Order: sequence, then C-alpha cells, then structure tokens
Amino acid sequence: YGLTRYVMSLMNGARLAISAQAVGVAEAARIAAWKYARQRQQFGRTLDQIPAVWEMLTRQDALTVAARTLLYETSRYVDLRDAWAEWSERYPEDATARETSKRYSRLADLCTPLSKAFATEAANQVAYDSIQCHGGKGYMREQQVERLYRDARIMNIYEGTTQLQIVAATGGLVKRILEPTLDELAALPFSGEAAELAARVAEAREVTAACLAFVEEDSSSRLELAARRLVRMVTLVYVSYLLLRDAMRDNARLAITRRFIWEFLPEVGMHDCVVRDTQP
Ligand SMILES: Cc1cc2nc3c(=O)[nH]c(=O)nc-3n(C[C@H](O)[C@H](O)[C@H](O)COP(=O)(O)OP(=O)(O)OC[C@H]3O[C@@H](n4cnc5c(N)ncnc54)[C@H](O)[C@@H]3O)c2cc1C
Repeated sequence: YGLTRYVMSLMNGARLAISAQAVGVAEAARIAAWKYARQRQQFGRTLDQIPAVWEMLTRQDALTVAARTLLYETSRYVDLRDAWAEWSERYPEDATARETSKRYSRLADLCTPLSKAFATEAANQVAYDSIQCHGGKGYMREQQVERLYRDARIMNIYEGTTQLQIVAATGGLVKRILEPTLDELAALPFSGEAAELAARVAEAREVTAACLAFVEEDSSSRLELAARRLVRMVTLVYVSYLLLRDAMRDNARLAITRRFIWEFLPEVGMHDCVVRDTQP
C-alpha cells in the first residue's frame, strides 16, 4: 500500500465527512428559515406566503435534498469499494471481484470531490438564503442562522478548497468515469412528468459531453480554465438523474426534483457558452 494512496484515501474520508457536515448545516438553516417564515407577519401575510420568500425557501429545500442525495450515493460507492476490496483480498483468484472493486474505487475517487464541492457550496447558498429570509434579525449574533452561515463558510475551504476538489475531479471527468452510471440512470423507465424532465437532463448531458470534447481538442490550459464549469455541468446532470431515480420510488420527491431541474439545469447551457467564448 503506497504512501500517496494511503494519504489520498485519508483525505477523501475527511472530505466525505465535511460533505456530511455541510448537509447538516444546510438542513438546519433550511428548517430555521421555514420556521421563521411561517411565523413572521409582513404586509398582512406570513413571509412564506410571499412569492419572493417562498422562492428562496424552496431553493433551500432543493439544494439540501440534492446535496444529501449526492452525499448518500458517494457514501454507497465508498462502502461498496471497501466491501469488494476486502472480498478480493480474501479471494485473490476472483477476477470479477477485483474488477468490481476497481470500478467502485474509481467512482468513489471521482464522486468524493464532486460531493465535497457541491455540498459545501450548497450549504453556503442555503445559509445565505436562510439569513435573507430572516431579514435584519438573521444578521444578529444571537440568531442560530448567523452561526450556521459562519460554519458553512469554512467548509468549502478546509479539507481542500472547492478549487482543489475541482482539480481532484478533473482526471475522472476526462476519463469519463461516470458515463456507464449515467447510461444506467438514463435508461430507467421514467414516465409522465419525470420522462419530460429526464429528456431535459439528457439534452444537458449531450451539451456537457460536447463541451468536454471541445475543450479537450484545445490546450491543457483551456481544460484548467474550464474545469470549474465542466465539473458543475457534470454534477448538475448527475444529481438531476439521481433525483429523478429517487422520485420513481417516492412520488413526493417529484416536486423538489422539478424545482432543482428548473432552477439549476439551465446553468449547463450558460457554462457551455462561456467555455466556448473564453480564450485561455
Ligand atoms: C478554522 C480552520 C480549521 C482548519 N483545520 C485544519 C486542520 O485541522 N488540519 C489541517 O491540516 N488544516 C486545517 N486548516 C487549514 C485549511 O485546510 C487550509 O486553510 C486550506 O486547505 C486552504 O489552504 P491555504 O489556507 O493555504 O490557502 P491557499 O492554498 O493559499 O489557497 C488560496 C486560494 O488559492 C486557491 N488555490 C491554491 N492552489 C490552487 C490550485 N492548485 N488550483 C486552484 N486553486 C488553487 C485556493 O482554492 C484558494 O482559493 C484549517 C483552516 C481553518 C481556517
């Protein structure tokens, strides 16, 4: 077991823990915002009845569920990697086990930085929106959300900044590690509104793949410059599919999935335009 591999595995374990911390902070901030918005009266109605506030509240819901979904999926890959690694150590002649272990190892290595970047940035956005829902009171030290906002702010810095998570994920992106998983998700039998949403995700996936190919044709400095946008595009496509998959099992999830896809998936087209227009 090489030292680099050991250190990387230690770092990835901590990164996943920070993702979980970020999901916890986002959940607390989201709940605090809903609680306050249901109580506070302004202009003859409670805040949650005001569309501008309702929009912030539901954005917090969508981001928190999305971050938790990616965290759980990544944790599942880590568990499967460890279980298959132990099995193939015990039965070295089992070639299938060795291959399966390698597959989950690659997925865990890619999804860990994706999850850390996505969850910690989401926690910042959710805590920011939660303060906004509280108005001036949210800024005050005695309010729980003020503390949550400060806590969220360190999470995308320690255990590797978001920029370094992007560096860590770029190799897996270029190797198309997620492609077989995206194929499996795309082939799920979605129906009704979920099928319509899945068609939008499929389109965004094509845009992302074409954008990555465009960047690869150019210099390595273009890849470095575009990496943040490419990581965001792939994450949005992947999380959208995961949310749609979960909505198949629990129809109540469809509303939040729709909210996430409507609000965030259009970013894919915007990033594609910027990547193509920017000269490195
Ligand atoms: C409250 C707190 C607790 C901490 N706890 C611990 C701890 O327990 N153990 C520990 O070891 N450390 C700890 N740290 C340190 C923390 O991990 C570092 O601050 C963090 O990794 C960023 O490193 P840096 O501060 O040197 O920033 P720098 O590396 O100087 O980064 C500055 C900026 O440049 C960007 N940047 C730097 N290099 C690259 C690159 N190659 N590509 C793209 N962008 C880049 C960064 O993303 C960042 O935006 C803690 C820090 C704080 C504030």
